[in-house]
Amino acid sequence: MSAPNKEKKSLSLMGMFRNRCPHCGKGHLYVKKSVFPLSKCLKMHKHCKICGKQLIYETNNGPGINYALTVIIFFINVLWYWPLFGLSYKDNSVYYFLASSIVVVLVLQPWLMRFSRSVYLYIMMMFRED
Ligand SMILES: [Zn+2]
Repeated sequence: MSAPNKEKKSLSLMGMFRNRCPHCGKGHLYVKKSVFPLSKCLKMHKHCKICGKQLIYETNNGPGINYALTVIIFFINVLWYWPLFGLSYKDNSVYYFLASSIVVVLVLQPWLMRFSRSVYLYIMMMFRED
């Protein structure tokens, strides 16, 4: 009995990365599949088109998770920056690293905001009964 349950959990976790409904894993969370146009990139369906599960709650904007993701991505940038350009306290390379990280985080922001909403919704659904 526990094996199918476990399979369902991993399926729904894939849905989180694909911005799918946390209940059925098939319906899209967002009205637009692409982040463009940016003005509509965070527009969500009120209810899942497949299973009818409510997707918009008062609190599901996930700003805290977005902040955490942004900080994580900001420092993960060191993984490509350091081998390519090098980092040293003797020159201005730290400032160039910070500037490039800011640019990367700003460019990724539409996807990060969508993903953080998705993560927040999945976490909320784990503890919600209805
Ligand atoms: Zn659904």
